[in-house]
Formats: sequence, structure tokens, C-alpha cells
Amino acid sequence: MEKKKLAIIGSGPAGYTAAIYAARANLSPILYEGFMTGPSGGQLMTTTEVENYPGFPEGILGPELMMNFRSQSARFGTQILTEDVESVDLSKRPFVVRGTSTHIEAEAIIIATGATAKRLDIEGARDGEFWQKGVTACAVCDGAAPIFKNRPLFVIGGGDSAVEEAIFLTKYGSRVYIVHRRDALRASKIMAQRALKHPKIEILWNSGIEKISGDQVVRKVHLKNFNDGKIEEREAGGVFFAIGHQPNTEFLKGQLEMNPTGYLIVKNGSTRTSCEGVFACGDVQDPTYRQAVTAAGTGCMAALDAERWLSEMESE
Ligand code: FAD
Repeated sequence: MEKKKLAIIGSGPAGYTAAIYAARANLSPILYEGFMTGPSGGQLMTTTEVENYPGFPEGILGPELMMNFRSQSARFGTQILTEDVESVDLSKRPFVVRGTSTHIEAEAIIIATGATAKRLDIEGARDGEFWQKGVTACAVCDGAAPIFKNRPLFVIGGGDSAVEEAIFLTKYGSRVYIVHRRDALRASKIMAQRALKHPKIEILWNSGIEKISGDQVVRKVHLKNFNDGKIEEREAGGVFFAIGHQPNTEFLKGQLEMNPTGYLIVKNGSTRTSCEGVFACGDVQDPTYRQAVTAAGTGCMAALDAERWLSEMESE
């Protein structure tokens, strides 16, 4: 089995940044960029304009930004494999990483497999329909886009993140509707109060969006009231899913400490996981910020943490 100092699993801003730093530190990293698990380059491959990544005053297309990350990691000698990691064995060192067609041993591992925003299968919200043409899953990322300005916006969800996203969107939309399938919010009391009191927010109880329609962008939502079954059409500028994220950690279950949702737990102020020699960065360990720049920042931290740990091991 081929032996490597460092394996990086995942190819978003976190994984590629970790690779840039690790390759420049002569760790000759091998990076599994995924294949069936999602597009190599991560979540930004599914978006258009990224306007908040520093260094690009005019904005940059998500796929272009990620191709730049990839090229920069390859430039310093990262070996990139276009395959998924199916399992790892962290019970002894060196660790074993089993990809779809490659099995390797690695002295250290960086997990950067990201998280997937949950979406509902609504007519009009799918890829190729209005996804990224008014339907999105990130208010902080997309809320400021001109298509949402002074338009009625609909947030699907009922937890803290739905309320947070709705409050954030009041800066842009003419009115913000929280569409919730129950008659009470799941959000904490204080967050629920904020939503209820906000003059620009209205909660549509016992309701769901049946269909999204429009032309080039979203124009209407078709709302169903679950009490009486009636469908009502309303003008809409955007639909935001706020029903949570699923961290991509299924293949690590039972081997690393996670929170109840599956986010990896890292030790305060570092990227160290519950297993010595395994580090985590990006959205897979971040239920709070979930931004490209924070993912890249923790990717840098993970490479520095791994490098220091590997040199300590060598000097022992
Ligand atoms: P990800 O980008 O999620 O990448 C993880 C990668 O790992 C994926 O390619 C996946 O295929 C791969 N992977 C998963 N499992 C495996 C496995 N077992 N083996 C191998 N590979 C695996 N943030 C901003 O800052 N600005 C924005 O404008 C913005 N817009 C967004 C728009 C959309 C539609 C979405 C969904 C997100 C947006 N975000 C934005 C958030 C941003 O994309 C994420 O915070 C960031 O991509 C997280 O990076 P990451 O490296 O942690 O993981």
C-alpha cells in the first residue's frame, strides 16, 4: 500500500487551502476531491457570482474561484485524485484511507468534506429550474443580489436558522415570509419573539410551498395551507431553504467525536479532532459560519496543525 505523510479528504475551499499550505511545507499531500459525493470544488460549484470572497472586488463566479483554488494546490505538487473516500481506519497509525479505487496509508489526515444544505423537492426548486435563479439555501451568501431587492421573499423553515435568515433578509426584501408547516416555531423563544415582533416579517403557519414559477427568475410561489388544503398564488422574488445542513461525515461514524447532527467536534481554537493526527476544517466542523472564507481560513489552520503534529512525531 502506498504510504503518504498527509491525506486530505474533500475539495472545497477548506481542502484546497489545506493542500496549498501542506504542499508548500513539503508534505506532498494527496487530496481526494470526490466524485459521486458532489462536484469537485465543493458547494461553490453550484453557485454563480461570489461577491464576498476577499480579493475579488468585482466578484467572481463560484466555479472559476474553485478552479483557481485547485490550480494553486496542484502548482505546489498536491496529488489530486478524482474519487471518493469510502472508509477510513483510524484505529491505528498509520491510518488507512480507502478510496473508490485507491487504498493508501497516511500518517495524518485532514477532513474537509463540507456539508450539504438540505433542500425540499419542490417543483421549480430543482437544478435546472429556479435553483440559483431566485431559489437558494444561503441568505448571507445571496441575499444582497439585485434580484431580491424590494421583492417579497419566502424562507422555508421554522428553527433558529430560518428566523436568522429571515431577519437578515429584511434588509433587502420588501417583506419576508417564513413558511412553516406547523403552528409553532421550533426556534428558541427569544428568536421566535424576534420574528413575531419584526414589522417586515410575517409567518405563514401550517403552510408549505407546492410550486415555484417564474420566467428567467422566480416570480411566484404557490402556497398550500395544510388546514384547509387551499392553494394560493403569491408574488415572490426569492425562496430560501433554511431547513438545516447535513455534514458529510457518514463514513467517519463511530471513529471521530461528532455532535448530534454529525458535525465533527474540534478542540477549542484548533482543528484537532478526537483522534490524534486527524484534523478537520471547513463546514464539516462549523455549524455556525459556513462561509468560503472561514472554510479557507480553517483549511490553513488544519495544514499548520498537521505539519506541527507530524514534526513532533518525527522528533519523538
Ligand atoms: P464544501 O464546499 O462543501 O466541499 C466539500 C467537498 O468535499 C465536496 O466537493 C464534496 O464532494 C467532497 N467530499 C465529501 N465527501 C467526500 C468523500 N467521502 N470523499 C471525497 N470527497 C468528499 N459562501 C461564501 O462565502 N460566499 C458565497 O457567495 C456563498 N454562496 C453559496 C451558494 C450556495 C448555493 C451554497 C450551497 C453555498 C454558498 N456558500 C457561500 C457557502 C460555501 O460554499 C461553503 O461555506 C464552503 O464551500 C465550505 O467549504 P468546505 O471546503 O468546507 O466544503
